[in-house]
Amino acid sequence: MLLDDTHDPHLRSWVSSANEAGTDFPLQNLPLGVFETPDGGARAGVAIGDRILDLRACDQAGLFTGSLSDVGVACREARLNALIALGRPALRMLRQQLSGWLREVAIRSRVEPALVPQSGAIMRLPVQIGDYTDFYASLYHATNVGSMFRPDEPLLPNYKHVPIAYHGRTSSIVISGTPIARPSGQTRPDGYSEPVFGPSRRLDFELELGVLVGTGNDLSVPIPIDRAEEHVAGVCLVNDWSARDIQQWEYQPLGPFLSKSFATTISPWMVTLDALEPFRCAPMKRPEGDPDPLAYLVASSAEAARALDVRLEVALASERMRQERQPALVLARSSTRHLYWTVGQMIAHHTSNGCNVRTGDLLASGTVSGPTRDSRGCLLELTWRGTQPLALPTGEKRAFLEDGDEVVFRGRCEKDGFVGIGLGECRGRVMPAGSAAGGA
Ligand code: CA
Repeated sequence: MLLDDTHDPHLRSWVSSANEAGTDFPLQNLPLGVFETPDGGARAGVAIGDRILDLRACDQAGLFTGSLSDVGVACREARLNALIALGRPALRMLRQQLSGWLREVAIRSRVEPALVPQSGAIMRLPVQIGDYTDFYASLYHATNVGSMFRPDEPLLPNYKHVPIAYHGRTSSIVISGTPIARPSGQTRPDGYSEPVFGPSRRLDFELELGVLVGTGNDLSVPIPIDRAEEHVAGVCLVNDWSARDIQQWEYQPLGPFLSKSFATTISPWMVTLDALEPFRCAPMKRPEGDPDPLAYLVASSAEAARALDVRLEVALASERMRQERQPALVLARSSTRHLYWTVGQMIAHHTSNGCNVRTGDLLASGTVSGPTRDSRGCLLELTWRGTQPLALPTGEKRAFLEDGDEVVFRGRCEKDGFVGIGLGECRGRVMPAGSAAGGA
């Protein structure tokens, strides 16, 4: 039931760019997004090779029939909320249908007019995001950050029992490509006895995976861990931009506030959980001697306990690197298989008190740092709080982000015997403090 013919590595599409080695969007992926072209408003689409299949056009062409008629109606909306609210069975049915349309030559003449080049489209936020919760699920990230600020007690005693998170800000979530204005805020620089207000001098990125909720739960009815993934529509890349100097001064006792709420960037394509099926893996092995999680965080089957192996990388290009036509420098590579808590555990914990999650909520993983130096997912860790700056190919040094720096995340899944799929990219360029960032 888990793998089906849509994952078959031998499938080929009549969209030739979907068959090119290394494409993020082969026939086996079929991620959903929202795009806009000069001749039409925002609408749902599916990435295939270097094209987008316009789902609204498919509906207008009468392609959604029978059991898919609800899907066709949902695709008339300018966001994916109505579609993902139909639940995973409907998304799976849509995937089956799309896979057939894009490979069977017999239907090509009816489907092909609904293709749009990606190069001529502007991507929009895929869903109307309700609430945004950001976890802290990498033990490596938590230990590294903790050891900088609390060398005597890097990991607080709750970490291995509780999937820690903070509630983020939805209004400032923007789509990949949106410029990011350097935030100003209150900080107390080292050696100062009084705080000052001004542009952050320690701006950072956080390399994260986001989970978009498809169907929610009723208030006061927790989602059991074994059923948690039924509520997930798909995943995207998330950059939880962070001002470390603001964060350090404000975070106690209630956690991050203005150090993170100024901007969060997400990638435009939502890769469905069904597309990720071949790339599931065992959860991270808990270090010897770690406590067992409480029962509500323990799945009763190996299937419900699985993690995801989404490989993530972060690259940086300074303004000077772009002028000198240097490619972006990869700073780190990591994978979500290094997370201490699984998506199932995050959802079970989030709703364990009866809190309801809703269609379109964004749950992010927290910085996905791995065990090695080159798998650290933020500059705070990579430069060890700025004490070990990175060298760029131009000779420039980076402790934290400078104006003009462009940060690009990419995500990809690979496994022997399967066609690799990509999450696309999540990109943002830092603008001077006071710049207007522009909308999503
Ligand atoms: Ca974060």
